[in-house]
Amino acid sequence: MPIVMTINSGSSSLKFKVYDMPEEKVLCSGNCERIGLPDGIFTIKYNGNSDVTYPVFPNHGVAAKLVVQSLIEKGVIQDFNEIKAIGHRIVQGGKYFSSSAFFNEDTEKKIESLIPLALLHNAAHLTCYRAFKEALPNCPAIATFDTAFHQTMEPADYTFPIPYELSKKYDIRRYGAHGTSHQYLSLEGLKYLKGVKHPRIISCHIGSGSSITAIKDGKCVATSMGLTPLGGVMMGTRTGDMDPSVFNHVVSVTGKSAEEVYQMFNKKSGFLGVSGVSNDTRDVLAAAENGNERALLAVQIFCRRIADFIGQYFVRLGGCDLLIFSAGIGENEPRIRRRVCHLLEEALGVKIDEKINSTARGKEVVLSLPESKIKVVIIPTDEEVMIARDCYAMCIKGK
Ligand code: AMP
Repeated sequence: MPIVMTINSGSSSLKFKVYDMPEEKVLCSGNCERIGLPDGIFTIKYNGNSDVTYPVFPNHGVAAKLVVQSLIEKGVIQDFNEIKAIGHRIVQGGKYFSSSAFFNEDTEKKIESLIPLALLHNAAHLTCYRAFKEALPNCPAIATFDTAFHQTMEPADYTFPIPYELSKKYDIRRYGAHGTSHQYLSLEGLKYLKGVKHPRIISCHIGSGSSITAIKDGKCVATSMGLTPLGGVMMGTRTGDMDPSVFNHVVSVTGKSAEEVYQMFNKKSGFLGVSGVSNDTRDVLAAAENGNERALLAVQIFCRRIADFIGQYFVRLGGCDLLIFSAGIGENEPRIRRRVCHLLEEALGVKIDEKINSTARGKEVVLSLPESKIKVVIIPTDEEVMIARDCYAMCIKGK
């Protein structure tokens, strides 16, 4: 029963899960939050227990060491050698990676070269990889890329209409994100599509970051996020797609620098920027229900952009057999799902069971009525298990 560990690091957090493979049994999970700040939070769940402590994490290295030591202290493992592989989630794999890769000097170099395309993420991933390498020097490590699943897109779907030489010289194109989640959803979704020869799936990963993906025969055909996760539908704090001239105009009328406006479009826009209330859909929906017009407008924009992408991908796929809702909002927010599905009803014949939808939270369930022209389901996403599967397949199976 080999043990593998998955690591999902952000600029100030480090989430981990420990699996018994190939059973995919979660032995332990946890999170180091507020890395680099004076008041860290460490949560660890194991064996039916859940402990929270408040250590200071000056950097990811300290967090990584605490994680591995805790596994011994909590009795999850007896010896570090029991961990047979570590899988790191990497946000940006650029043009280099269409599947998971072993960590080595070349992989490190490529991830490093892609830092400009994932400013906060790729650098934190590398720091984290190096920290675990120091803590567990003999353990093989793999990198699983958020962009890899989207590498099957055709040039007409991933090329931006800027001067072609520029695209080529600087690798400017649509890379997408949340690929591991979309791939997981497409695999899980197949059980609803028995007998369908060429399954056409539209998966909606909608949380604080949101992306929609069109999948045919298990391969990504199109996805809403672009060069970076700023593109696509409106999100918690990101704009999503807009007329590119908005950027120039805002720079010119505010006198802010390009960098300041870029940060504004990433961190102060979307639900937060339009509503002025919050980046959390729950707060914005509550405000809208209390008559806040800006909050209602934010909800309307969000749902319409999602419906727009679904319509676009319906055409791109030549139809759709399964529509999947997932991630924080998709799994837990009936009001958003209802609004989106209503927008699809007239044109695409989507009909959901309002009663099932109103109580469905965080669990897999079919939402559509039998007469719906598209089957609609909620599938809770699981990026970690995909990483664990790759760890097992690449580092353990057959050895
Ligand atoms: P994610 O980034 O996938 O964790 O999604 C985060 C967003 O999902 C939050 O900002 C909320 O708007 C929404 N969300 C998460 N959990 C719930 C919940 N239990 N009920 C309603 N909305 C939720």
